Amino acid sequence: MLNEKVKALLNDQVNKEMYSAYLYLDFSGFMGGKGLGGFAAWYKKQAEEEMEHAFKIYDYIHANNEEVELLAIAKPGVALTDELQVLKEGLKHEQYVTSLIHNIYKVAMEEKDYRTMQFMDWFIKEQCEEEENAQELIDKFEKYGKDAAALYELDKALGKRD
Ligand code: MG
Repeated sequence: MLNEKVKALLNDQVNKEMYSAYLYLDFSGFMGGKGLGGFAAWYKKQAEEEMEHAFKIYDYIHANNEEVELLAIAKPGVALTDELQVLKEGLKHEQYVTSLIHNIYKVAMEEKDYRTMQFMDWFIKEQCEEEENAQELIDKFEKYGKDAAALYELDKALGKRD
């Protein structure tokens, strides 16, 4: 059994993680359209990771003998204009997800749900990495984006993400 408030937030987070996958799939398509196949592959891999996050929470809810209510996944709500803007939207989105994760932890703490606090530890660490990765993409694009040869190498390197 899970605390009702915590369960509702976890249920919503399944949806938010799937939305993240949608958003990154959208980014992937945009980057592919700009001829940046490596960036496109990187974001597609990121979309897969987001689905794994959703499944992790889905499994946790079920492991606690509770049901998951699958909600409608929103259409990606960010208008994509240029490469750097997309990268910055990625960071903004991860900062938003961090705030959601922190809120789940906060409510679990208030409700003395120690099990969920421990479960959320993984996501708190993961968000640190996600923000770091998003910032790194911005830094690299700002440094190499205007030099075609350097951008070619950067794109190739990002395409190797596994
Ligand atoms: Mg995630």
